Amino acid sequence: MGLSERDRQVIWHPFTRQKNGIPPIPVTRAKGSFLYDENGNAYIDAISSWWVTLHGHAHPYIAEKIYRQALELEQVIFAGFTHEPAVQLAERLLPLLPGRFSRVFYSDNGSTSTEVAMKMAIQYWWNRGDKRRKKILAFRNAYHGDTFGSMSVSDRSVFTLAFHDLLFEVIFIDTPTVENIAATCELIGQHQEEIAAFIYEPLVQGAGGMKMYAAEMLNQLLAYLKQRQIICIADEVMTGFGRTGRLFASEYMEQRPDIICLSKGLTGGTMALGVTACTDLIYQAYCSDDAYKTFFHGHSFTANPIACAAALASLDLLVQNQSLQTVSAIQKSNESFAETIQQGGYPIRSVRVLGTLLAFEIDQGADEYLNHIGSVLTQQSLAEGVYLRPLGNTVYIMPPYCITEQELQKVYGCIQKLLSGI
Ligand SMILES: *Cc1c(COP(=O)(O)O)cnc(C)c1O
Repeated sequence: MGLSERDRQVIWHPFTRQKNGIPPIPVTRAKGSFLYDENGNAYIDAISSWWVTLHGHAHPYIAEKIYRQALELEQVIFAGFTHEPAVQLAERLLPLLPGRFSRVFYSDNGSTSTEVAMKMAIQYWWNRGDKRRKKILAFRNAYHGDTFGSMSVSDRSVFTLAFHDLLFEVIFIDTPTVENIAATCELIGQHQEEIAAFIYEPLVQGAGGMKMYAAEMLNQLLAYLKQRQIICIADEVMTGFGRTGRLFASEYMEQRPDIICLSKGLTGGTMALGVTACTDLIYQAYCSDDAYKTFFHGHSFTANPIACAAALASLDLLVQNQSLQTVSAIQKSNESFAETIQQGGYPIRSVRVLGTLLAFEIDQGADEYLNHIGSVLTQQSLAEGVYLRPLGNTVYIMPPYCITEQELQKVYGCIQKLLSGI
């Protein structure tokens, strides 16, 4: 029995239709920008395997660090114990983060990093004796993860449809524009005494369709919120570690977050790890003689040493490889390709670029995740040796930083070929 057939007997895949779906591709190995299947076909991983891979697949430097750490200390309970990789990672991360952060709280994925952030913010007010502030403010069309808390602050969409009655109440606002910001601030003003925190994906709403909005407007909104002591939580799970051209997207704004969430690229895309970092003001609310003010949250694999070692190795590579310069070169190529397809007479609109990210909508069917054209394009791209995974009719690329100009041109050529066929 082939791997695909064995898989069909025992596995349930994420975000995948279980009936009439397309069978998964058995991947045997990966290297740099490429995934290789069991028949020896190579595919350029143009979306960094769900936005995680930074320096390329199976990077020998990270692999070596993981191996050495696994031989030394693979795991230890993180309540009552500590270890070098966790401490060193916090020491190295904190000065790099966009804001004045003083503590790192570890978890193991993006959803847990946002759950931790929201719990941390809500209990901050509770610990201070302010029992009114417990609501969360979030953007429409947002995505912050798949657990109940992170689903609650995400868009009410096809992803969350079965659970709407069970999600907690959130105040939703639109991403800010010159036209709507006054009304948005007025709405927030009416609720300011009840709002504990605001959670946002800075500059790009990823799973919501790679929607971009202006730094200047976000800065204005953050300034308004900060005047009202609302805790600002930047969800940089996708945008972190250079994706947008700066180390963190929050660097584009003067107003900095009070809490930041990181995962995906944190370990270069090799191990599952989440970070939630907060300012000292928030941390101090938990430093109390009262045991009830403890943050009762943790996961079995909190601060797993192998994952922390992988993150340290990825930070080394970000510096050694001058990744921000690489991202800027990829952005330039993306910009010139954006011009090419805008002038190509294709049925597309809203071509946009930020860092390694290039996205646009196809003018066919509805603007939604279930638009069938996405999976059709995936199949066609695979036949061209490129892996694309559009979000409905939103086509995007987000390649690993190791991608060469020649490989990028192959991805662009593939996109043009697919567009010509529509
Ligand atoms: C992917 C993502 C998450 C969820 O991360 P997981 O590791 O998939 O749980 C949260 N926020 C943003 C912005 C993301 O892109």
